Amino acid sequence: MKKIKDDPQTRFWVTTCKYCGSTFIKFQNATKYCSDKCRDYSTLEHTEKRVRKHRKKHRSQTDSYWGLGSGYLHGTPKNDFKEERKAIMMERRRLKLPAK
Ligand SMILES: [Zn+2]
Repeated sequence: MKKIKDDPQTRFWVTTCKYCGSTFIKFQNATKYCSDKCRDYSTLEHTEKRVRKHRKKHRSQTDSYWGLGSGYLHGTPKNDFKEERKAIMMERRRLKLPAK
């Protein structure tokens, strides 16, 4: 396919959403989902699978470790958004999750 640079007509692709399977038009080649919602849900599912796999693999030593209430995040979010974000990023790193 011939692509003319900077021609608005050629700068979008018709593709299907990786999460819900609906057809949509993307304006960036890297886009995989039709909406933020689909992207977020997909990320959640992905993360869940990863964590579950990880826990299964290390079950013997993580049974108690992964109990409820573990981790640095608390039930109530911090008042400072920056602090909260930092805590979440630290937690993500600790759980070896990909940063958004
Ligand atoms: Zn979708």
